[in-house]
Amino acid sequence: MIRWCQLLRTTLTLLLLIFFLPVTGSTWRGSNQPKREVHAVWAHPPAVGNTVESVRKFVNQCKRANIDTVVILIKGAQGEIYWQSKRFPQAIAKGYESFDFLGTLVKEAHAQGIRIDAWFCDFIEGPNGAAYREHPEWAELNPDGTTTASEKLGHTKPYDYVWMCPARRPGYVDQWLIPMFEEVAKNYAVDSVHHDYVRYPGDVAPDSYCFCDYCLAHIPQYAMLSYKTRSEERYRVKFAQPRIEANWWSDPTMLPADWDRMDRREKADFLLNGRTIPGGPPDMRYFFYDYRQYQIKEYVRELATRIRGLDRKIEISAAVFKNPILSGRFIGQHWNNWTPWIDVFMPMTYRSHFAGSFESYLDHLTETTEQQLEWVNHERPVYAGIASTYLYREELQPIDDIRDRANELKGLAVDDAKVRAEKAHAIKTSFDAMKTHLAEVAPGTEKEIGALIDPIVVNDGRGATPTAIEQLVARMSKLRSDLPPGYFPPEKLLKAIDAARKAHPDGIVIFAAGNLTTEKLWPALETSFKR
Ligand SMILES: [Zn+2]
Repeated sequence: MIRWCQLLRTTLTLLLLIFFLPVTGSTWRGSNQPKREVHAVWAHPPAVGNTVESVRKFVNQCKRANIDTVVILIKGAQGEIYWQSKRFPQAIAKGYESFDFLGTLVKEAHAQGIRIDAWFCDFIEGPNGAAYREHPEWAELNPDGTTTASEKLGHTKPYDYVWMCPARRPGYVDQWLIPMFEEVAKNYAVDSVHHDYVRYPGDVAPDSYCFCDYCLAHIPQYAMLSYKTRSEERYRVKFAQPRIEANWWSDPTMLPADWDRMDRREKADFLLNGRTIPGGPPDMRYFFYDYRQYQIKEYVRELATRIRGLDRKIEISAAVFKNPILSGRFIGQHWNNWTPWIDVFMPMTYRSHFAGSFESYLDHLTETTEQQLEWVNHERPVYAGIASTYLYREELQPIDDIRDRANELKGLAVDDAKVRAEKAHAIKTSFDAMKTHLAEVAPGTEKEIGALIDPIVVNDGRGATPTAIEQLVARMSKLRSDLPPGYFPPEKLLKAIDAARKAHPDGIVIFAAGNLTTEKLWPALETSFKR
């Protein structure tokens, strides 16, 4: 009888193993087992809250949506951090000083079988952040010797960030950033750490950083534009070959003889616009781009060495731009060269990075995801990164336009009849574009907003009082932050996920949890991620 029981138990165990192995087994090409698609979500601390109850509620929502991994922001773009740091208490975000946010989230998530990936905004800091306040000498500088906070976003908005130099040692990387990763990895049971902003600033000034003193000295050294030994000996190009650039290997001294007397602008100009061969193409910036790619790669390698040297296995993931070849050129992020040090790639293949219609985005999302898997040679998992908000450009545009035109109307002189009429007309057109759909999903809201718009647009905007405009602006902002269910059609999110799936990525990662709540898209995700 006992032997039968044992046999039965062994058989059951074997059956269970056979049943579950294809699901939990290897995800790599080459194994014949089907991949188990990983579901992940990027989340910001406000989406999780700062009480045990709010954390639990958030984790329960993730569980309902079959989320396997929460990528939780713990170092934000202003340099603020969300763990109980002993080493960097001055960087802890307001409201998180006494609540063990990360510890609580790890505990609650693990209790539900959800992994936690700790997300760091690597090289971006705030002008009032602790790192820049204490070490202004660690910041990246442009040829004028100013930081990224001197740049403009769009044509008018100030750019409220300071990027830190990835190259300088000792500096931000070895004195601040890597110690932060280590502190988290040592003190919290996180499953993974996550790179973001692991690059140079590219949204405002791709070719202007970094020309700090350290980089001005090290770019020429990195490319060996001259020799340190016998530096007084200088060699001219031997024009032995008819093709002018073919004479590069005659070993000319590329650094100008008066380099040491040049100022920052002159040096930067040479490094960007100089020529390897006099009379040849202005190709010197090739070495600048190569140096930047090397510095980011070197940091990624260094971090991996440190994290993997700890006595517990912790994975490393990275949020990267959609095309590593282009981002290598523009932001030093040649990420398909990082496969030895990154365990999971999460390219941000957001619609905001594509120019065309929603339908064309779906095709380009499939194509780009396929190419990303090729770029990493299928050596590492790739999770397709989809941002929910940007899928809804058509739905958001009228809301933003009404709010913007109303704000412009507010600033107009009362007798500026022509422009007043234009703004009023634009508000009416935008509302016409959205009102049918809004009436379908929220008839009360449609009526309410219509009643606010009517007095503003009648009579070519002549009757638009400051109070009426203010009320409309406020109502549009409220609509934007609390959209009626269905205003963002869930089908668009489902279609985007399906378009990514056509390329067979290893996972899907959605940006971001807080938006899914505002946009009422969790139910759609629960459907799409059903197992
Ligand atoms: Zn630098």
